[in-house]
Amino acid sequence: MKAGFWRAAGVAMALAAPLARGECPQFKGALEQGGFIWGKVAPGSAVRLGGQALDVLADGTTFAGFGRDAPGSVKLVVTGPAPCSETLQVARRTYDIQRVEGVPQKTVTPPPEELARIQREATLVANARAPSLQRPDLIDAALAGFVWPALGPISGVYGSQRFYNGEPRNPHFGVDVAVPRGTPVYAPAPGVVTLAEPDLYFSGGTVILDHGYRLSSTFLHMSKVSVKVGDELQAGDLIGAVGATGRATGPHLDWRMNWREERIDPQLLAPPMPKPAPGAEPGPDPKPMPKP
Ligand SMILES: [Zn+2]
Repeated sequence: MKAGFWRAAGVAMALAAPLARGECPQFKGALEQGGFIWGKVAPGSAVRLGGQALDVLADGTTFAGFGRDAPGSVKLVVTGPAPCSETLQVARRTYDIQRVEGVPQKTVTPPPEELARIQREATLVANARAPSLQRPDLIDAALAGFVWPALGPISGVYGSQRFYNGEPRNPHFGVDVAVPRGTPVYAPAPGVVTLAEPDLYFSGGTVILDHGYRLSSTFLHMSKVSVKVGDELQAGDLIGAVGATGRATGPHLDWRMNWREERIDPQLLAPPMPKPAPGAEPGPDPKPMPKP
């Protein structure tokens, strides 16, 4: 998977038109739908991507994410000490259809009396992701690499078109790791907790971890939330425990990532999921925990 996106990025760079104003710096990361890229421009530069002004840190670090249905090409314009412009080719992805049966029907078609709660919670989540936390140390740590918040088989991927109990709903934007209820969930990179809710209507026990500059991770369906808003976490710190709260059929961790208004694919920032060693001990204690 890693090799695939590095190759995609390489192809895009090779195809870029000759530049009138000097070469743009090369970006790292996944230049594809759902991907996240970062690189360094001359300190003091201004960077626009697809017309949107990007953050540029004091050392010139700049970064951007691409949504599930991002267009195939986007214009990069750098102004300042070393101006350049370039059209980046964003690789297209194809997405699976996934049918999920057996979720509580009230989470597929909520009863009218729940709509006010759902609206209130959507606002809560949007507000938790809206402010830009200006912490170069956090974003630098995130760009240095994520770890998996839980290890286990991947049972759902980013972007798939979802049918719940036969009814089409929004695509799935997270990566699902199928692990038993009660499995600890750890911070995949440093961040500040901006939302810690034990029981949201669709997502159940939910935590948002802000990695700075509107890059955030969200953890859904947890049976236990062990952090509170304002907590600052290091990679590997405990966030909570896996559950099946909200719209879920069984215990799993759903890890999502957002950058600004885009939903990006955590799997493109995490290392490949390690395969369990042959004959390895079964994972964490699968004893059921009491329902919240
Ligand atoms: Zn999921």
